Amino acid sequence: LGALSRQFSTQMPLSRSEILKCIGDKPISEDKALFERANDVTKSVYGNKVFLRGIIEFSNHCAKNCNYCGIRRDHPDPERYEMSQDDILETIKWAHEKRYAGILLQSGEVGTQDRVDFVADTLKKARKLTGDKVRYILSLGELTDDQYYQLLQAGADRYLLRMETSNPALYAKLHPQDGHHDWLKRLNCVKSLVGMGYQVATGVMTGLPGQTKDDLADDIEMFNELGIDMIGLGPYIPQVKTPTADAWMAERGRDSIELTADDKAKMLLDTIRMLATIRLCNPDVNIAATTALQALKDDGREWALESGANVVMPILTPKTFRAEYQLYQNKPCIDDSASECMGCMDRRVRSIGKTLCFGELGDPKHFTDR
Ligand code: SAM
Ligand code: SF4
Repeated sequence: LGALSRQFSTQMPLSRSEILKCIGDKPISEDKALFERANDVTKSVYGNKVFLRGIIEFSNHCAKNCNYCGIRRDHPDPERYEMSQDDILETIKWAHEKRYAGILLQSGEVGTQDRVDFVADTLKKARKLTGDKVRYILSLGELTDDQYYQLLQAGADRYLLRMETSNPALYAKLHPQDGHHDWLKRLNCVKSLVGMGYQVATGVMTGLPGQTKDDLADDIEMFNELGIDMIGLGPYIPQVKTPTADAWMAERGRDSIELTADDKAKMLLDTIRMLATIRLCNPDVNIAATTALQALKDDGREWALESGANVVMPILTPKTFRAEYQLYQNKPCIDDSASECMGCMDRRVRSIGKTLCFGELGDPKHFTDR
């Protein structure tokens, strides 16, 4: 871990072997040094600030069938819902009053023009409510360039589209080979979004069946090559009745997806190692402490915030719909309301001596310096 003693004020990325060392197994003292260094780098760019974005999961309809996902088209369990425009705008109004300056509209992938027109119209109305005091982030999956442009013109600022993995062969195993799940198409979407002027977030899942440390090192190199502004990284968590969960059980010789305490500890540690290493390679991007980390350990998000993350994204989806947006088992905050989530997040951030930034746009320095 010679890399850890470098001056990280320069944006010098780590070498391949340094990345592999950082994300690999090592004595606890070296992991601790990695996490502390990542926290120092984060503080040198963002101080003790933690930026806040609220997520509205406005629909769980999806035309895609990603093998890992609990709301995939063929999943029998979720009752499908669509929030009305009035309900979405009401939630945005509430968030704005509570001084959320980032609002993420997320859904399954429905690429019809009607859906895109609906989101564009909602954005225009939302802008009238909030003026330029809010950054709007979309996470609607793969659309055409014209549709991305339409949404940008309608008031979107940021777009979140995870690559899921940098390895096209692994991607192929995680998705049906039906011509609608194509790694290269997704990569071209990310590139289009960057080229169009969106602030772009991407990310991957860690701990996927068949994923190697080399894949994860490639993921980190991919983020740098793509010139990404924000990174959202989370553990893969198996969900019942999905093909990837079957692969996960087969890899372990098990017949249940229930996570043991050891599973959770390993998944969390591997994800935090990735997150800290990403921070060392990208001092000026925004990195989210994602909800999935809290599914593994109650203070998983706080750990991430002390190891390189600087963004939290509490869920604002009305309580009635939360249980139907169950991407993975034991998704946290299902029974909480938006205001409970906000109070809880504020307490959690304070508990580690950082400050939740109400009313701050929280643009990534990587974007504002472009
Ligand atoms: N449909 C859009 C898309 O796929 O880009 C946005 C919504 S999708 C539910 C958001 C993210 O959920 C995906 O990019 C994926 O990384 C994550 N996700 C889905 N299933 C998951 C699982 N079982 N464990 C962890 N994350 C999961
Ligand atoms: Fe649909 Fe997104 Fe889930 Fe894939 S990850 S099935 S696109 S909601």
